[in-house]
Amino acid sequence: MDKQSISGYTLPELTELLKPLPAFRAKQVFKWISRGVTTFNAMTDLSQELRQDLGERFLVQETAISETVTDSDGTVKLQISLQDGAKIEAVILVDGEGRKTACISTQVGCPMACAFCKTGSLGFLRNLTSAEITEQLYHCRTVSGEIANIVIMGMGEPLLNLDNLRRAMSIWSDPAGLGMSRRRITISTSGIIAGIRDLADQGPEVRLAVSLTTADPALRELLMPVTRANPLPELKEALRYFQSKQNKRITLEAVLLGGVNTRKEDALAIAGFAKGLDVIINLIPWNPVAGMGIKGKDFIEPTDREIDRMVSLLEDRGLTVTRRYRKGRGVSGACGQLGSLEGFKVD
Ligand code: SAH
Ligand code: SF4
Repeated sequence: MDKQSISGYTLPELTELLKPLPAFRAKQVFKWISRGVTTFNAMTDLSQELRQDLGERFLVQETAISETVTDSDGTVKLQISLQDGAKIEAVILVDGEGRKTACISTQVGCPMACAFCKTGSLGFLRNLTSAEITEQLYHCRTVSGEIANIVIMGMGEPLLNLDNLRRAMSIWSDPAGLGMSRRRITISTSGIIAGIRDLADQGPEVRLAVSLTTADPALRELLMPVTRANPLPELKEALRYFQSKQNKRITLEAVLLGGVNTRKEDALAIAGFAKGLDVIINLIPWNPVAGMGIKGKDFIEPTDREIDRMVSLLEDRGLTVTRRYRKGRGVSGACGQLGSLEGFKVD
């Protein structure tokens, strides 16, 4: 069997694992891992003997960057190889001020099968381990340096892998390591009610984004099959519950599909859903993926006019609206395009 990496252990877990070593040793090791070193030999404040002993028992990292592609807009897409040969992707986005956001994956593929999403079309292989989630951030830092924000918006549905994601977030935000603020972490979900309630009850207090796409129940069911088991009224109730516990503004994301969910009634339905919630609306023009559509018709990108009209219809109803930039399209690293390098093998 492959050696196991220790990058997916929270500090308390690592302390337990390394016993009878004293807790301060575990803390030293944890700090080194968080800095992104890849060998125990690099942990120069440990004795030679201890470094060798740890090296015989564990790996520091178990995943590796297998390909890097940079877009002309600065977006970097990393293909990361897992021990079992599966491949996932992480993306680094740069904003106007040069601040970097890492977009992290939580599953190999995705079981949710949203009609407009490349990752969804791949099917689902498995959940990522906490090590596989955690290490994506280290790889992003190795390639791009300091990361200001983390969005859990890569491949997969994060709330179906919440335990492992929780451990990764705990590792990233531990002050003994990177000390990443939880407020700089956003989880995006397709709308898993049980997961939203779990997050409300058990934390951690991170930001929440929900991929609403449309609030027309029949259309949403067609575009996002998750709607069947997680209907819109109950979803709204769960978001209310989340806000009663954590009192934080939620982002409602809507991928705009040309001529599909950009009608006036779509804007009105979103406004109706948003009523009574503290939200901002994030409109994401659909990033093209060949051959995706519904009812035998391929999706097309929304025109600028369609987008502008959605913005003003929503703003007229008192909502705060942001438009997501079309970043990373040159490398198929934009929202919903992940999985296009080589994908994973289901064999
Ligand atoms: N699975 C989670 C997080 C990853 S998807 C979720 O669905 O929320 C991240 C965002 O990209 C979601 O809001 C999703 O609706 C959006 N998206 C998916 N496919 C897209 C595409 N082709 N173009 C633009 N956005 C897309
Ligand atoms: Fe999965 Fe999100 Fe893509 Fe839907 S949009 S298939 S939930 S990754």
